[in-house]
Amino acid sequence: MTGTFVGMPAFPDAARTALADTQLRHNLAHATATIRGKRDRLVAEVDASGVGWEELRLAGAAVKERALRGLDEHLVRLEESLTAHGATVHWARDAAEANRVVVDVARRHGVDEVVKVKSMATQEIELNEALAAAGIAAWETDLAELIVQLGGDLPSHILVPAIHRNRAEIREIFQRRMAAAGRPAPDDLTDDPAALAAAARAHLREKFLRARMAVSGANFAVAETGTLVVVESEGNGRMCLTLPDVLVSIVGIEKVVPTWGELDPLLRLLPRSSTGERMNPYTSTWTGVTPGDGPQEVHVVLLDNGRTRALADEVGRQALRCIRCSACLNVCPVYERVGGHAYGSVYPGPIGAILNPLLKGTGDPQTDSLPYASSLCGACFDACPVRIDIPEVLVHLRSRVVDGHRGDRVPKAEAVAMRAAAFAFSDAWRLGLGERVAAVVGRVHGRLGRTTLPGGRRSMTRLPGPGAGWTGARDLPAPPRESFRAWWRRTDGRLDEERTP
Ligand code: SF4
Repeated sequence: MTGTFVGMPAFPDAARTALADTQLRHNLAHATATIRGKRDRLVAEVDASGVGWEELRLAGAAVKERALRGLDEHLVRLEESLTAHGATVHWARDAAEANRVVVDVARRHGVDEVVKVKSMATQEIELNEALAAAGIAAWETDLAELIVQLGGDLPSHILVPAIHRNRAEIREIFQRRMAAAGRPAPDDLTDDPAALAAAARAHLREKFLRARMAVSGANFAVAETGTLVVVESEGNGRMCLTLPDVLVSIVGIEKVVPTWGELDPLLRLLPRSSTGERMNPYTSTWTGVTPGDGPQEVHVVLLDNGRTRALADEVGRQALRCIRCSACLNVCPVYERVGGHAYGSVYPGPIGAILNPLLKGTGDPQTDSLPYASSLCGACFDACPVRIDIPEVLVHLRSRVVDGHRGDRVPKAEAVAMRAAAFAFSDAWRLGLGERVAAVVGRVHGRLGRTTLPGGRRSMTRLPGPGAGWTGARDLPAPPRESFRAWWRRTDGRLDEERTP
């Protein structure tokens, strides 16, 4: 029932469509401002307690960095620990291999439906679609994921996948689509949040009690003990992780944490950065199979799907520290205006702008457009609990995109502009000529459509021809009437007061 991101347009085109949706912008602005406010209050509380938010960030980043540096050893240890506790470990190079494992397990048990804990990894590999192709229904049990699934929609936020929907829209989706998927919504359903949650609870309850197989992801995987950790807010995860007989967990290889003790800073950073809570309402941990308690058959699929490619990138590998808290989305001025769908991936916002090209590689127009979906303001780095320098990675990826087009037979406008700049800057006479031409162009366009920027700087609002696309969305400062070199020649480098006797 959920759509797919395959075939999404490049970011500028998708963003243009999203910007025309005023309801979307209103929903996003309201939701991100609310989450930001809660998070900021808790960060201030940590600082006031004397622990220090920055110290906590440094500790969290160090844990993830240690885990990534020794990833090969930690993963082998994780496999040994899991196997020792009765779990079956599978290694999946890509989405197809991971999906095949889940379908095979489901077929072996003769199930035609599974319940799911919210999981980015399963969305990344499009597991629901793979299960549907095999005749197996996958039921999302997180409230926001349920809304997305029933609406035949796509997630637009890491933490709140239905952030683009308001209460009235959710009520309408429940009334229209719940009956086809199981227990229908009550006829008198209102858009009161408690009523909507109650309708979802009743709808999901029969699925929890009936399902024989569950699929989850994991927020963390402790190598030392073979323990998987899922944090969530609704209790649906706990139901999925304890009621069915069979459990399959898809775990990205970057989720490994060496020791149980190193979970400490991460479990303090994650809820504060994501939902703005001191701790998650539900933190479930499980270690393989416990006879007579919970699932009696546990499979863990360790997923690569581009992660080793990202790890090989010396600048970009820090993106694998991500704990999917979504704080960078909530502070991003670009995300707040265009929403998640414009990024064409389950990973939207600033982290999506770097993670997608790192996982998939550059070279595709949609992926190549993502590193440019940022103003490089740096708010994402300030908010990130594990100190991922997203602006640094964005600039690095932009250079990779540019490098990938150096051999093009028809160069891009940007490449032509850079070559022209290099030609002009490499010769004093050519640079002087360019400055004089720019000053004339600036004066002409200043008369046609000039505005004044903050601080009194003048701006050319619209350039003709190829420049129109660039100035359509940006302020282009008008060239000064006199260049620095011309001023130097005229004054010999002395200020007016120095020259006046
Ligand atoms: S990049 Fe940082 S802020 Fe963004 S989702 Fe990942 S951990 Fe959170």
